[in-house]
Amino acid sequence: MDGKAAKMAIVDGLMNLDKIDCKIRDAETEISKGPQDIARAEAAVKSAEAKIATFKDKGIGIAKKIHGIEVDVKAVEEDMEKTKGHQRLAKSNKEYQIFKDKIEQDKAKIDKMEDEILVLMDEQEKGAKEAAAAKKELEEAQKISARVKKEWADRTKELEAELATLKTQRKEAAAKVDAEDLVIYERARRQARGTSALAPVRGTICGACNVRMPAQTLNLVFIGKSLVQCTSCSRILYVDEHSDTRENAEKEK
Ligand SMILES: [Zn+2]
Repeated sequence: MDGKAAKMAIVDGLMNLDKIDCKIRDAETEISKGPQDIARAEAAVKSAEAKIATFKDKGIGIAKKIHGIEVDVKAVEEDMEKTKGHQRLAKSNKEYQIFKDKIEQDKAKIDKMEDEILVLMDEQEKGAKEAAAAKKELEEAQKISARVKKEWADRTKELEAELATLKTQRKEAAAKVDAEDLVIYERARRQARGTSALAPVRGTICGACNVRMPAQTLNLVFIGKSLVQCTSCSRILYVDEHSDTRENAEKEK
């Protein structure tokens, strides 16, 4: 194996490791998202419950108001009956007229209060409809919450099994990489923040961060024996014509 082929073998080993690390990261990310999804679903349940509580309070408030007005209506009616009694016993036209005016005023008061009751009853009806909608919303939110929890629990089981396999594979893949190269890889991977630690060179730019590479760096990627990192994103650079180069390498063996 010449230098180029040896380098390709190192890059292949790292790519294999990188692929496994990306899968591990994906599985871990998916597992970690579960609590967020559950929290969101539970928040929707709480919100619907709060809405229902608000409608209930509002409904109680309206019912109290209606009752209060009804009590007032009754009091005015009783008052009016008394006035009617006085009116029948009026000793003069003037007195009669005063009682009559009072009765008219009471009637107007009662009409006004009854109108208020009608308005409140409309509100009550609207509130009942809104409460029914909120109840439906709550039921839906509870269903979703239960589903999200179940799905997450099931998926987590799958992912944990997958992770166990991946971690075994990783050990095997890492064992095939030189310790020095592994250190470079691990550092590049940390700097790549969970994304692939390797990047192909496309023309003269890094395929990951799209920064143009200095000629010297490019030369080292193409002809050098050791690993070369992107001067900008620190990913390990490899020749883009991967399959072609490998074909050549196979021929050279
Ligand atoms: Zn880069």
